[in-house]
Amino acid sequence: MASEKIPRISLMDLEMNFLEVEQGLTNQEAMEESNRCLYCYDAPCIKACPTGIDIPTFIKKIASGNLLGSAKTIMSSNPVGASCSRVCPTEELCEGACVLNHSTNPIMIGNLQRYATDWAIQNEQTLFQPGVSNGRTVAVIGGGPAGLSAARELARLGYEVTIFEAADKAGGLNTFGIVSFRLPQKISFWEVEQVKKLNVTIRTNTVVGRDISVDKITEDFDNVILAVGMAHVPNLGVEGEELKGVYDAIEFVKATKSGQLSQDFVGKRVVVIGAGNTAIDGATCSIRLGAENVKILYRRTEEEMTAYDFEYEFAKQDGVEFRWLTAPKRIIGNSLGHVMGIECIKMKLGEAEPDGRRRPVPIEGSEYVIPVDAVVKAIGQTRHKELIEAFGLQHNGGVVTVELGTFRTSNPAIFACGDVVFGKGKGDAMVVTAAQQGKDVAYAIHKQYSPVGVVN
Ligand SMILES: Cc1cc2nc3c(=O)[nH]c(=O)nc-3n(C[C@H](O)[C@H](O)[C@H](O)COP(=O)(O)OP(=O)(O)OC[C@H]3O[C@@H](n4cnc5c(N)ncnc54)[C@H](O)[C@@H]3O)c2cc1C
Ligand code: SF4
Repeated sequence: MASEKIPRISLMDLEMNFLEVEQGLTNQEAMEESNRCLYCYDAPCIKACPTGIDIPTFIKKIASGNLLGSAKTIMSSNPVGASCSRVCPTEELCEGACVLNHSTNPIMIGNLQRYATDWAIQNEQTLFQPGVSNGRTVAVIGGGPAGLSAARELARLGYEVTIFEAADKAGGLNTFGIVSFRLPQKISFWEVEQVKKLNVTIRTNTVVGRDISVDKITEDFDNVILAVGMAHVPNLGVEGEELKGVYDAIEFVKATKSGQLSQDFVGKRVVVIGAGNTAIDGATCSIRLGAENVKILYRRTEEEMTAYDFEYEFAKQDGVEFRWLTAPKRIIGNSLGHVMGIECIKMKLGEAEPDGRRRPVPIEGSEYVIPVDAVVKAIGQTRHKELIEAFGLQHNGGVVTVELGTFRTSNPAIFACGDVVFGKGKGDAMVVTAAQQGKDVAYAIHKQYSPVGVVN
C-alpha cells in the first residue's frame, strides 16, 4: 500500500490541518472596506440576502466603531449570522448584487459580517432578551439552523420553547457537517448559546420517535416545528459497500469535527463518489487527513455538478482530482475485507430528466479499475420518512409538503422548515435559507394567536 512509503503524520499536525483556512479582516482592513460602501438607497444587497440583513446599516456601524450595534443588526435578521458569514455563497447572494460589481470589486460583505460577529463572540456578548411569557409552548424537533432560528424568534415573542436534538450538541450541520477549516464549531456553539440565553430548553441526546414519542410531543405542546434536516448518505447500490474503508461522507466529516482525527488516511488513495458540497467536503477532509491522492468521481460533467463554485475552486487548490462521466460499478475488497479498488464505468449524457439535467448512461465495455484504499460516499442525503409518517404528515418522497409562506404542514398544528422541506432540483440547500424559513415559521405561529403578527 502507498502508506508504507509515507512517514507518519502526528495527530497534532492533523489538528493544524483542520484550523480555519480564511483569516478574518484586520481592524484597518475592516475600516477601509466599510468606508467603501456607498450605503445605497434601496440597497440591492439587502434584497439578495435571504434573511434580509440590513447590510448598509451593519457596515455603517462598523465604520463608526459600533461593533455591538453592527453584530445586533446582523444577528437580529439572521440568528446564525456568524456561521453564514463563513459559509454563505456570498458571490451568488449579497456580494453578487452589490452595485460596486459594475465599477470595482463588490464590498466584502461576508468578511465584514464575520468581523462584527467575531467581535461579539470574542467579547462574549449577549445580544437579545426573551419576550414576556405568553404561556404558549412550542416543541422544535432538530437544533440545526432552521430549528434554532425558529426557537430564537419564538422565544423573543414570549413562547416557551423546547428543542429536541438527537445529537449530543445542537447546531446541526453547522456543528457537525460543514468542515472545521471553513466553520469551526465554536462559532456554531456561540449561536446555540445565544438561543439558550433566551430560556430555550435544549434537550440533546434525544431522538424524537425513539427516546420520546411523537404522540407525547403533539400532546404536550401547542405547536410543533419539524426541523430535522435530511438524514444519512444513501447506499450506492453496488457490490462491496459493506467493506472496511467505505465511509458515509456526513459521518466522516462529523468524526473530524468531533475531534476524532484518524491517522488511517495518511498516504492513502481515496475516491469520493458524488460532486455536491458534501463530496467536496469529504475530499478536502481526506486531503487534510494526509491522503496522498484524492479523486472525485461523478457520473455527469462539471456543468451539472451541484457544489458551489467556491467549494469547487477550493478542492482544486487542495489538489483534488476530478473524473467526470464516471460511475462506480463495484467496490473490490482484499482477503481482510478491506477496500483495495473500485471498478468504474464510463458514462455519456442522454435525455434530460425531470429536473432538467441530462441522464447519465453507461457505456458498455468501458469498465476499468482504480486501486484505492478508501471510498467516501457522498451522493446526497436520505430523508426522515419514518418520522414524517409517524407525525402523519403529507410528503413527497420524504420532502414534507408545506403551505407556501407559512410552512404549515398537512397538520395545522405542525410546521416544517429547513432541509426537511427542501425539494430536489430547487436550487441549493443553504444555511441562510434554513434560517429564514425558521423565522417565517415562528411568525406564522405567532400570527395564529396574534393576528397582527410580527412588525419587523
Ligand atoms: C457536508 C455539507 C456541507 C454543506 N456546506 C454548506 C455551505 O457551505 N453553505 C451553506 O449555506 N450550506 C451548506 N450545507 C447545507 C446546510 O448545512 C443545510 O442546508 C442546513 O444545515 C439545513 O439546516 P436544518 O436546520 O434544516 O438541518 P440540519 O442542519 O441538518 O439540522 C437538523 C438537526 O435535526 C436533528 N435531528 C434529526 N433527526 C432528529 C430526531 N428524530 N430527533 C431530534 N433531532 C433530530 C439533527 O441531529 C440535526 O441537528 C452543507 C451541507 C452538508 C451536508
Ligand atoms: S450594494 Fe454594495 S455598496 Fe450598496 S449598500 Fe450594498 S454593500 Fe454597500
